[in-house]
Amino acid sequence: KLIVFEGVEGCGKTTQIELTSEWLHILGVPVIVTREPGGTSTGIHLRRLLLEANNNAIDPRTELLLYAADRAQHVEQELKPNLAAGKYVLCDRFIYSTIAYQGYGRNLDMNLIDQLNTIAIAGLEADLVLWFDIDVETGLARKRKSGEAADRIELELIDFHHRVQQGYTTLSTMYPEKIVRINANQDKITIQNQIRQICTQRLPD
Ligand code: C5P
Ligand code: MG
Repeated sequence: KLIVFEGVEGCGKTTQIELTSEWLHILGVPVIVTREPGGTSTGIHLRRLLLEANNNAIDPRTELLLYAADRAQHVEQELKPNLAAGKYVLCDRFIYSTIAYQGYGRNLDMNLIDQLNTIAIAGLEADLVLWFDIDVETGLARKRKSGEAADRIELELIDFHHRVQQGYTTLSTMYPEKIVRINANQDKITIQNQIRQICTQRLPD
């Protein structure tokens, strides 16, 4: 099963992926954790290119193509083989990030984004998407406090982050059977318990 974790900066998805992975591991479920961008050795180079804080010269269309390239490689090299081996794959970001960030955030044409996502995933779909809905300002403050190095996206104007958030909101109402909203303003134990419940209900086997 492919479970995708999505949300704006500082929403806590990385922490929750780790906790979810520990839980599945204890249950004896084979599980791997991966992420986009940067889930493969090629992807690590692309991630560096995409996120260096001093790199403000990337055109939005170039950015979109680099994310698509990262995803195509990730799908073939990491996601499909692990899913075929029967593992649970917990993935930090997937196509929904591209729709939210490059589509809503950068205002790129949605048809173009859909086409590139289609090429990149080559038929692979998520079984469940968990959207960590946090206040944009709270998330950004949390990320800054975490000591994680600042990246290009963090330096965007606040309007950009609000558009991304709007993107996730719209996506979750468009695909309610696939995307589950989690209130990420709650404490981490409460959130983790909700994730366990959702996974048990939605992915019974
Ligand atoms: O969530 P994570 O810290 O791995 O994300 C890395 C950065 O890449 C974040 O700043 C995120 O906003 C950005 N990103 C993006 N477009 C995507 C995926 C990630 O701008 N499609
Ligand atoms: Mg993270």
